[in-house]
Amino acid sequence: SKPSMEKIVALCKRRGLIFQDSEIYGGQNGFWDYGPLGVLLKRNVREAWWHDMVGSHDELEAPAGAPSPFDMVGVETSIIMHPQVWKCSGHYDLFHDFMVDCRETKSRYRFDHVVGQFATAKHAKEDDAEPVTLFITVAGDSDDTGDALITRACEVFGLKKKKADRIEWSGSITPLSNAVELPEFSWDTTVGPEASKPGTLTEPREFNLMFKTTLGALGGDADAAFLRPETAQGIFVNFKNVLDSSRVKIPFGVAQVGKSFRNEITPRNFTFRSREFEQMEIEFFCHPNQSSDWYQYWRERRFAWYKGLGISEENLILREHHKEELAHYSVGTADIEYAFPFLDDGEYGELEGVAHRGDFDLRSHTEGKLVNKGGELVVEEGEDGKPKYRGSGKDLSYFDDQSRERFIPHVIEPSAGADRATLAFICEAYYEDEQPDDKGNMQSRTVMRFHPRIAPIKVAVLPLIKKEGMPEKAAEIYRGFKKAGIEAFYDQQGAIGRRYRRQDEAGTPFCVTIDGETASDGKVTLRDRDSLEQSRIAVDEIVAAISEKVRG
Ligand code: ATP
Repeated sequence: SKPSMEKIVALCKRRGLIFQDSEIYGGQNGFWDYGPLGVLLKRNVREAWWHDMVGSHDELEAPAGAPSPFDMVGVETSIIMHPQVWKCSGHYDLFHDFMVDCRETKSRYRFDHVVGQFATAKHAKEDDAEPVTLFITVAGDSDDTGDALITRACEVFGLKKKKADRIEWSGSITPLSNAVELPEFSWDTTVGPEASKPGTLTEPREFNLMFKTTLGALGGDADAAFLRPETAQGIFVNFKNVLDSSRVKIPFGVAQVGKSFRNEITPRNFTFRSREFEQMEIEFFCHPNQSSDWYQYWRERRFAWYKGLGISEENLILREHHKEELAHYSVGTADIEYAFPFLDDGEYGELEGVAHRGDFDLRSHTEGKLVNKGGELVVEEGEDGKPKYRGSGKDLSYFDDQSRERFIPHVIEPSAGADRATLAFICEAYYEDEQPDDKGNMQSRTVMRFHPRIAPIKVAVLPLIKKEGMPEKAAEIYRGFKKAGIEAFYDQQGAIGRRYRRQDEAGTPFCVTIDGETASDGKVTLRDRDSLEQSRIAVDEIVAAISEKVRG
């Protein structure tokens, strides 16, 4: 069974993993701070990602027919980019949620997803954790409002069909990608038990999720700028710079880790939906003919990454989007999703999206904002018939000097959230069992079973007692770990069993105990957090042994 979110949040605070931001002033919804242990954990998640995706990319096996090894490089770009970037990327016009307010109850609802004539909504009153049930009746004047459409919508949203003309849902629903255009449709929306009284909700209103700020002293509308809602655009606008300055050849990937900001209407579920969060994104550029293979490749590779760091198969799914869910430019998108404890059984929350984006992004930044016209991507026109948002006009194509071919690369984008991944690792690690204490009485124990690679502290060094030279020897061993770059913790306070349990709760995979024998046999006791096995190991081998175990 799943651990309770209350226990996880309490442990995060108690042990210094995650705190509410500005807590002494009452906190801020959607903002979180990482404490001393949390900062180590999150750094390890980030570093594991960078190492596995960028640093050791030449160990990766490419799909058949593709060059191996392929290139992977990194960039670190600005949080505030040129405002035109967001106009051409589509975020300025399309990156919004929809809100409706209920006039009667004064409640606010956030529409998560809009597909055709269907929308899903969540109660957006921020302090209200109760999911509400919302009914939306399909307008009757479309030729597409038949039973088949409703069945289809139920399938898309994973809903239970109630009546032929009505969909009911509650709680959280698997999200769609952001850039979903709201098509024309009419509403007849009512809430819960008042479903028979139509029209109690206001019309849906758009709400752009980008945080706005102003540049310079004057601060007029012309100086408006935005905090980036994703790191990806920093990669696209530097595509040519990367090509010209490094010797990368197609196919290659550019990776970036950094903060992103979204003014979410309903920040909730601990760090899962925050207003400030960190992304780990790759834009992988390849030949259009090979893009389907690379799409498959990255879906599988990213799925395997989570499993390799300890997420169990039963809690992880790879969900291919339905055609209706895809952003208009996307050829295919798959979400890697985790069974977070705040979700009902059988429900999953997105950890990462892997999207096949075609040539949409590079073309948008050359030509201007693109829209889908009868299946073709064309530059969107303003009222004057000119491009609505002008692109950079810079040629972002690629010339293959072997085949003498010029083309606009296709993009595969694995886009992960560092905070969501960290939260999934925390939830997955949380475990309670019973172990005998120093006197042999059974005591309940909380263990954070972090994979050794991401555990905040790798090894605790514990002198059995505070005399007979044990603390001195322990301090020397502790310094040895630190010198080798292994995160270690020294603790000489209290009974040894209690010290072990403190480390279990912090997720430290190994404890090294210096006891009365150490001085004579030159050995220490090595305790394993999960198996609880204890073995004797020579002092001068201990650093190498731990280093080997935490490399993973
Ligand atoms: P959701 O539908 O849950 O809002 P999304 O589909 O909008 O997510 P993307 O735009 O694909 O998310 O962003 C890529 C990744 O960035 C997500 O998979 C997630 O890990 C992370 N992410 C996005 N929004 C947030 C947020 N508000 N808080 C924390 N992480 C986020």
